[in-house]
Amino acid sequence: MEASSSGSAAVGGGVEEEGLRRLHELAGIGRDKICALEAIFGGNVVMLSRKDGKRSFQVHVHIEIPGGIDVSARLSFGAGTLNYREAHDGDASDDLFYKFRVEHLPPILITCLLPSSYPSHQPPFFTMSAEWLDKAMLSSLCHMLDMTWQEQQGVEVIYQWVQWLQSSSLSYLGFDNEIVLSKGYQTCTEDGGDTRACPDNAPPDVTIPRIIRYNDDKCHEAFLHAIHCCMICFSEFRGVDFIKLPCHHFFCQKCMQTYCKMHVKEGTVLKLLCPDTNCGAAVPPNILKILLGEDEFERWETLLLQRTLDAMVDTIPTNGDIQVHAKKMLIY
Ligand SMILES: [Zn+2]
Ligand SMILES: [Zn+2]
Repeated sequence: MEASSSGSAAVGGGVEEEGLRRLHELAGIGRDKICALEAIFGGNVVMLSRKDGKRSFQVHVHIEIPGGIDVSARLSFGAGTLNYREAHDGDASDDLFYKFRVEHLPPILITCLLPSSYPSHQPPFFTMSAEWLDKAMLSSLCHMLDMTWQEQQGVEVIYQWVQWLQSSSLSYLGFDNEIVLSKGYQTCTEDGGDTRACPDNAPPDVTIPRIIRYNDDKCHEAFLHAIHCCMICFSEFRGVDFIKLPCHHFFCQKCMQTYCKMHVKEGTVLKLLCPDTNCGAAVPPNILKILLGEDEFERWETLLLQRTLDAMVDTIPTNGDIQVHAKKMLIY
């Protein structure tokens, strides 16, 4: 609703525009600013509750990492629990070094409250958090946002903050080539660092899988929306029209369906593997079920059982009784 009213204000002119502006002023301080933010950041801004006539919101800042980046963590087992290793932890012989690569990082969250005198006299009140940054790093980013405000007081600053975080925060933190996860013992309220810096204090065995899962989900989302070429029919389709196998090879739905049905029809189910000639990984049953439909999937199951038993019989050493018994099993 707010985004659409801001849209009409933007296209309207003269008296109408002035009227809308006055309405926004009366409706609540900061409303027009928030409308503008919604228009700029789209789904990355979440409105929070209204407080004393002021409005608060959260911006999800997605960091730009073209080509991806390595994330590493040096870990140690202290008292049976996994934690980030500190420089003063002593004996490093039990250290674990964990490294993985991501193309997407969970966003940095900035929660803002606009004071009534923003932007003429006061900056937005804010807190900052991110799953992959510790308190010292977040404090350093908070400080940088303060500096930006100080340089140009009286100007709308949130958009610049977000842009800077998106494009420059990694190099500012010294993470040009690699992000190093470190300990986040200090909480929001503990001494030291900026009180606006709110690190996620989850242990590494929680944080690391979260970061990996986030990246996997985003990569899959990006795959579904992008255009890809099917290496069987050489036609181009959107990702949603592809079947992606666990081996990461993907082929258009139509080709995969024809391919699977052909093998089931001809009874060559043992050859029903990833169509990439250098791969040969199995096509999992859940995908086959979708491609074949109920009846043909049942036929595939029966055929697979038969072919597997055939193969077992062939490998059993020449012992008349066992062979006869195995063949009887096949018949009944
Ligand atoms: Zn195809
Ligand atoms: Zn494959």
